[in-house]
Amino acid sequence: MEQEALDRRVQELNKRYEGVDGQKVLRALIEDEFRGRIAVLSSFGAESVVLLDVVAEIDPSVPVIFLDTGKLFAETITYRDDVIAHLGLSDVRIVTPDPVQIEARDPEGILWYWDPDSCCALRKVEPLPSAIVEFDAVISGRKRYHGAMRSELALFEAVDGHVKTDPIASWTKEQVMARFESRRLPRHPLVAKGYPSIGCEPCTSQVAEGGDVRAGRWAGTMKTECGIHLQNGMGI
Ligand code: SF4
Repeated sequence: MEQEALDRRVQELNKRYEGVDGQKVLRALIEDEFRGRIAVLSSFGAESVVLLDVVAEIDPSVPVIFLDTGKLFAETITYRDDVIAHLGLSDVRIVTPDPVQIEARDPEGILWYWDPDSCCALRKVEPLPSAIVEFDAVISGRKRYHGAMRSELALFEAVDGHVKTDPIASWTKEQVMARFESRRLPRHPLVAKGYPSIGCEPCTSQVAEGGDVRAGRWAGTMKTECGIHLQNGMGI
């Protein structure tokens, strides 16, 4: 979509759905606003199943994009398959980095250690645009209570030609936990081992009880996001 039209659409959507519950927003987006032109971006991490459950209740055939960076925990892959079966998701698309680029830029697989921004660009940001080119809108499950850059999340944003939405941005930790309970949703096995947020294995650490949810992501560095959630011309 052209930038001006996209900005107008985002403005309209933010106005129309301000204060509306995330489940109602999702239903409107999937069944009406972007019918057949919307996908979910999911890491199948610690809380991902909550958003996926709301989406699957509306329509389990909504495409779900999963970026397999080649650096994920084995537990995440197993959990992804458990969640797919549990929710009956019928269109999960596994997106991987370009092997030619991996060979050229990270042949030993240790770029994350020297230059995590370049590693995220190679393994997460660059593979995404072609995976979402057919969609007008992409859903993500970020929440404001995760803090830092996420505390000011807008419901809708215009990012690289797409509408990006975080329909459950306003959900609290209590609401997320209540959904786990009431829907008996499966937990990622690493949550019980002290990982409240789960990304790639080399860049995710355990967090002490009561610590910030995202404190274990790129711990000890200034990095807080992988790039796919930044409006920087590198994907959505
Ligand atoms: S999170 Fe770490 S391993 Fe994963 S893509 Fe980013 S830098 Fe690389």
